[in-house]
Amino acid sequence: MIQIDSLHKQFGGFQAVQDVSLSVPKGAFLVLVGPSGCGKSTMLRMLAGLEAPTSGTIAFGGNTVSDGGRGWVIEPSRRDAGLVFQSYALWPHMTVAGNIDWPLKVAGLDKARRRERVGEVLDLLGIGQLAHRYPNEISGGQQQRVAIARMIAPQPGILLFDEPLSNLDAKLRVEMRTELLRVHRATGATSVYVTHDQVEAMTMATHVAVMNGGRIEQFGSPSELVARPETAFVATFVGTPPANLVPVVNGAYCGRLADAALGTRNGSALFRPEELTLAEGPSGRTLTLDYAEASPIAGRFMVTGIRGDLRITAIVDSLPALSLGDEVHFRLPPEPAMFFTPEGRRQQ
Ligand code: ATP
Repeated sequence: MIQIDSLHKQFGGFQAVQDVSLSVPKGAFLVLVGPSGCGKSTMLRMLAGLEAPTSGTIAFGGNTVSDGGRGWVIEPSRRDAGLVFQSYALWPHMTVAGNIDWPLKVAGLDKARRRERVGEVLDLLGIGQLAHRYPNEISGGQQQRVAIARMIAPQPGILLFDEPLSNLDAKLRVEMRTELLRVHRATGATSVYVTHDQVEAMTMATHVAVMNGGRIEQFGSPSELVARPETAFVATFVGTPPANLVPVVNGAYCGRLADAALGTRNGSALFRPEELTLAEGPSGRTLTLDYAEASPIAGRFMVTGIRGDLRITAIVDSLPALSLGDEVHFRLPPEPAMFFTPEGRRQQ
């Protein structure tokens, strides 16, 4: 349904998006995730037709909608895609029903059909009782529902979301994730969702593109990204808590703990938090860091130590008797779960 080929976007001399290619089938929920400035919003704006690619193409359902090489872009209103931003931008002088009706009016639907469709989406979003209120008379979460209702009213084949939940409080955000997925499924549309929140990405997506520095580091399903991260960046970006990366210098962890199994390798070793344990004192298989915090997680405890650039998290059964400033000793398992080269690529 969405096919992106060799997409580039340059602002002056700056490459905001570099050589992005991917495709997703109809009905997919694609999440673009990555740190601030990695090019996610620029990607979404190109999909919406608000920004022209410098080179490369975008096709929806087999029809090219943007072609950087030929310098043409089908305008946003003619590409069967709806867009919702972080700021809801509802028309303040129109009621909720009026806001939802507006794009249907623009599309030229007759009055009876519009009234019917407005009723359908009000029901789908569970906001029928708000139909006659104005945007300043409803809460932020309700405004976001109205913005989504307005987007889906004309039944676009593609739904584009740019951090739509980031203005909501934590509880509402979790509720709205489920709501959004329900709406996505009910419409049968293909969605593209931009977020910097990996939890949101991993819980909502059928397909995830992890972006870094304008490029796609890895594209796959959430479970593939966790089970087989291709780069050290992906390995530490996904998962709750994220995996630990321990630098290896000449076959020794952190340049100190020699491990014959590593030979003379350099790079970094990945240990999952649930594979580490805590030791009473230092030994030939422990890393010593400064105790930073412990928090409960699903009946267990997440213990974190920090020293210099190194940050290690272990999931353990009982709360350790440690105070801030104490040393904490993490015992490594016999082998790392994965090994990454100094360039950050996973070694088989
Ligand atoms: P955030 O999560 O902070 O919104 P992002 O991943 O969405 O970040 P983009 O907004 O796509 O990032 O921006 C990618 C890079 O391109 C940034 O370095 C940004 O400063 C730059 N950029 C974006 N738009 C323009 C523009 N119109 N002119 C020049 N540079 C731009």
